[in-house]
Amino acid sequence: MDRRTFHHTLLVAIAGGPFVPERSGAVLRRLQQPRVNGDRLAASIARLAQIGRTSEGATSRVAYSEADREGREYVIGLMRAARLTVSIDAAGNILGRRNGNTASLPPLMMGSHIDTVPGGGNYDGVVGSLGAIEVAHTLAEVGIALRHPLEVIIFQNEENGKVGSRAVRGEDPASYLDLLTHSGRTVREGIRSIGGNPERLGDAKRAAGSIAAFLELHIEQGGPLDPGGIDIGVVEGIVGIRRFEVTVDGFANHAGTTPMDQRRDAMLAAARFVDAVNRVARSTPGRHVATVGQIRAEPGAVNVIAGRVVLTLEIRDLELATIDRLFERVRAEATAIGEATGTRFALEPYYLSMPARCDQEIRAIIERSARALGLSTASVPSGAGHDAQEIAQLAPIGMIFVPSVGASSHSPEEFSTPAAIAAGADVLLRTLLALDAR
Ligand SMILES: [Zn+2]
Repeated sequence: MDRRTFHHTLLVAIAGGPFVPERSGAVLRRLQQPRVNGDRLAASIARLAQIGRTSEGATSRVAYSEADREGREYVIGLMRAARLTVSIDAAGNILGRRNGNTASLPPLMMGSHIDTVPGGGNYDGVVGSLGAIEVAHTLAEVGIALRHPLEVIIFQNEENGKVGSRAVRGEDPASYLDLLTHSGRTVREGIRSIGGNPERLGDAKRAAGSIAAFLELHIEQGGPLDPGGIDIGVVEGIVGIRRFEVTVDGFANHAGTTPMDQRRDAMLAAARFVDAVNRVARSTPGRHVATVGQIRAEPGAVNVIAGRVVLTLEIRDLELATIDRLFERVRAEATAIGEATGTRFALEPYYLSMPARCDQEIRAIIERSARALGLSTASVPSGAGHDAQEIAQLAPIGMIFVPSVGASSHSPEEFSTPAAIAAGADVLLRTLLALDAR
């Protein structure tokens, strides 16, 4: 074949033309790095967006609903078209597998979720799920054999408690099986409805060290990429969260007859507390956040000084130690407010989500992969929880963020451009190939 025909054949192979026999990744990488088919990816995202579309233009595909079931069927079809072997694990997660050519290596895994919040959008979870399938499809078309087995995983029910990834991590199912979900079904009923087996959840558990690495592509959520004109976010880690119930006890009394200097007003103390939380967080350097999001007064009458106020405190940061330091400062403020107002504060922890660091080496590979594609990058924390956070306890993880226009998420306004999504999927592909080669 002449030089021109050779180039043509190579380009057809790389662009996803006729099936070519598999060759080793190393050989092909020397020739050229393949790119995903951005049009095909955009089309599958648009198609999935139709499933669960509401009359208000939102997408409601809450886990275990009819729309969720239909969306899963669509995704299974995409996996088969990408020549993945599909199975459902005991937790109801969808797995698409492709063999590697070196025996005994653990799988490289990538994926996300396709369930949404009620009245959600078309990108949260979907970009990482369909992006991973597109990467597998590209590998099959170009004919690249990986050394490691490849697993694309679509975790079930991320939005209502990361159920699928918690099962893979091996958390005691008693902590979530009987919870009622937005679908009206309990988790137990839901798992059964999507082809899992709630009595055998142990079968879905993966052992620590049994996954070579896990990658998740995702939209940023309120992050700096879109406003900063940055193409790719290299995620440093997923923040930990501590939540506390704060009870302020004062003395309920007549609002008309109790003089101002003789009150033990729990509402006043609570108001000062809300302000103190904000002040402590803002005066401490760092990227942590602290929020009072709920408040309830007792007895809660217009003409009674509040005898008790119950509120919530939530603190998030990449370091548990930072969260604890902030909490100690908030607690000291609470004590001082209590003394000044004649009230008593009790702060009870009730929720902890462990922070998860992304793997240093994988972060460097993501960074290099983006740069090689001519894309700009920034290191970002993830303030929201993700399935990758659970898998971090079993395997090194990496997360790639793409910009969200207008920084909205969990809403019908969610939007990332097809070009930004294709760029993210290309970074995912390159990162996967680099991890396979190391
Ligand atoms: Zn998500």
